[in-house]
Amino acid sequence: MVAVTDQPVILVSACLLGVECNHRGLASPSAAVAALAASARLIAVCPEVAGGLPTPRPAAEIQGDGRICTAGGADVTDFYARGAAHAVALAQATGATRAVLKARSPSCGCHQVYDGAFSRTLRDGEGVTASALRAARVQVISEEDLAERH
Ligand code: SF4
Repeated sequence: MVAVTDQPVILVSACLLGVECNHRGLASPSAAVAALAASARLIAVCPEVAGGLPTPRPAAEIQGDGRICTAGGADVTDFYARGAAHAVALAQATGATRAVLKARSPSCGCHQVYDGAFSRTLRDGEGVTASALRAARVQVISEEDLAERH
């Protein structure tokens, strides 16, 4: 049997592993992500919670100027930045070179995010944690990329 410490380490959005931590207080469990546990050490992280935001919390979107705001106009950029820094530190501390992150989140999205107008309109781009992890040389994919491989 392979010792747990010999397995590759993958950082995973906590909501994909069933943690009810999204802004509505719900999870987004993914069977494809859970199946990775057979061959890798999965490290769950919710950057928004780690950054100090409550659950549930108001939805927020990345604005054109890069700030992250709620529909009510509250600027929560610092919380998101703190969560991204935590995720990078966790990846470095655990030796994670890959991450599977929740699609379209302003933190975890790695291909598209909402456009900042709270109209459910997507644009190409990535969330702050996905961006920070990629800059730290962590390979980032979404749960949808993973599901397509199976
Ligand atoms: S910040 Fe990431 S891990 Fe946390 S609820 Fe949102 S998508 Fe899931």
